[in-house]
Amino acid sequence: MRLSKNFTLKELIRSETATRKGINNNPNEDHIESLQRLCDHVLQPVREHFDKVVSISSGFRSEELCVAIGSSANSQHAKGQAADFEIYELSNKELADWIVDNLNFDQCILEYWTPDEPNSGWVHCSYKNDEDNRKEYLRAVRGADGRTGYQKEYSNTTGPTKDDINDSLME
Ligand SMILES: [Zn+2]
Repeated sequence: MRLSKNFTLKELIRSETATRKGINNNPNEDHIESLQRLCDHVLQPVREHFDKVVSISSGFRSEELCVAIGSSANSQHAKGQAADFEIYELSNKELADWIVDNLNFDQCILEYWTPDEPNSGWVHCSYKNDEDNRKEYLRAVRGADGRTGYQKEYSNTTGPTKDDINDSLME
């Protein structure tokens, strides 16, 4: 089943862990509709803008699969609203910045990216719907204790706005 011109349902539900552990990772109709929206509003526009293959490392994850890999069962992946992806040889920061500057999205996370290794990490992006999208841009970093922390991220073109700076001074 094709979700958009360049994306199939198969690549958005594929999971080696699910296959290996015999975990059911089949989406229901709601999940498929959400995946379709994610393709229409985020993945397909990315594919067309960069004109390169978008490689998806993880899309839909059933609650059981989320638990098995140590991620939260409340993750947007479990709702079919999120995917992790990258484009070969394109900086993940550049990819995330472009999404943030040009698309409507719910949450975009630049995951474990380090500036001296442009291909490090990956991009996580979710889409809910026009009204509920938070347009939140974050960076996930691993702290000295090995735990993941999230900090506000800015695209290189916009940077922090005056309001953002005022907010941070008030915290
Ligand atoms: Zn993710």
